[in-house]
Amino acid sequence: MNYDMLLVRFGEFTLKGRNRGRFERAALSRVKELLRDYPQAKLNHEFGRLYVVLNGEPYEQMIDTLQKVFGIASISPVKVAPLDIDEIAATATALIGEIAPAAGTTFKVHARRVWKEFPHSSQEMNHLIGSPVLRAFPALKVDVRHPQLELRVEVRQQGAYVFSEVIPATGGFPLGTNGKAMLLLSGGIDSPVAAWSSMRRGLEVECVHFYSYPYTSELAKEKVIDLAKVLAGYAGRIKLHLVPFTDIQTSFTRTGQDNLIITLMRRSMLRIATKLAEREGALALVTGDSLGQVASQTLSSMNVIGRATELPMLRPLVMMDKNDIIDIAQKIGTYELSILPYEDCCTLFVPKSPSTNPNLLVVERIEASLRELPAMIDQAVEATETLVLEANGKVWGRRREDSVVREEYF
Ligand code: ATP
Ligand code: MG
Repeated sequence: MNYDMLLVRFGEFTLKGRNRGRFERAALSRVKELLRDYPQAKLNHEFGRLYVVLNGEPYEQMIDTLQKVFGIASISPVKVAPLDIDEIAATATALIGEIAPAAGTTFKVHARRVWKEFPHSSQEMNHLIGSPVLRAFPALKVDVRHPQLELRVEVRQQGAYVFSEVIPATGGFPLGTNGKAMLLLSGGIDSPVAAWSSMRRGLEVECVHFYSYPYTSELAKEKVIDLAKVLAGYAGRIKLHLVPFTDIQTSFTRTGQDNLIITLMRRSMLRIATKLAEREGALALVTGDSLGQVASQTLSSMNVIGRATELPMLRPLVMMDKNDIIDIAQKIGTYELSILPYEDCCTLFVPKSPSTNPNLLVVERIEASLRELPAMIDQAVEATETLVLEANGKVWGRRREDSVVREEYF
């Protein structure tokens, strides 16, 4: 179809009073980044809305891209007509012709005169545009209450915008407008969905992944990097901290407390993630926990595990059904990667009967008996590698060696 422009509407944050400008600027800068791939397109920002003038760029592809931007509520492809009622009616007729509605489709015109100097009122326009459209398409039936096809016309000083489709987008808050959190990213289904859900609330997310080389393979690490790349497609770029966890994990296996291993591991993960969060200025930890899903996600386990950190624990999926989580994973493009079979460090040493009701005092006593644990936690933080993954596929690496940070480009 032959459209001139995309009309982009912002989401719920437009209700947020004084913050609105900041939120709009954040969404705008993400849109600008994405539109670099469409050099002919021109962006106009008017109070509460964005207009993307297409200048021949492929609108369907651009809609797909813009639909992913957090903070955008909906998008309409628009035809622009000169400010003349006959021209507007002709454009409207052409648009309906391209939509080619089935016989019997119910229809109405909804015109708005935003530019008050236009000589026809909204009511008059409904008539003056509706009549020629109905003459051209006599099989349409008028229904002013619940039409299947609503032809919208907005008359502004710059021109008359004619459109009918309102394509829903992701909504939420623009990325980074609600602060930063550290997300524990495993290779599973849940944590990437937790990441996306957090980003949709305006949280900037850095990811931390724990691996137990050589017990977990290089492929398992690659898988997590690939998942983070998908997330970078939404965020523009994602920082991924890769933490060597083998020593800590094996020290727990030596305690002989098999049923508490997962609890102990999770608490150490939280301690390391907390240190990284403090270093990076993140104010909360996020996990993919969902209540009752597995032993480490009973309320009792969450209670004992969560006490290992003083940061707020955010669990966006905590009350969600697995099926709904899978639906989101499929929609955001992480599902197929998540179900690849590589071992995660937690599935590796999973005991036959992990405790669903761990005792905090017992857990604390075991930790206290592991004298070297605090030092191992510090070492793990020191040995953490950080990658920066960009939406365009570039990967930047950062290694800490003797407190010198080296930047590398892979
Ligand atoms: P997921 O699908 O996210 O792996 P899960 O249902 O398999 O979740 P668990 O394996 O019990 O659940 O993990 C619970 C949460 O702990 C994960 O959602 C994730 O946030 C965190 N987590 C588990 N393993 C790791 C890991 N190796 N690295 C980083 N985070 C992890
Ligand atoms: Mg898992």
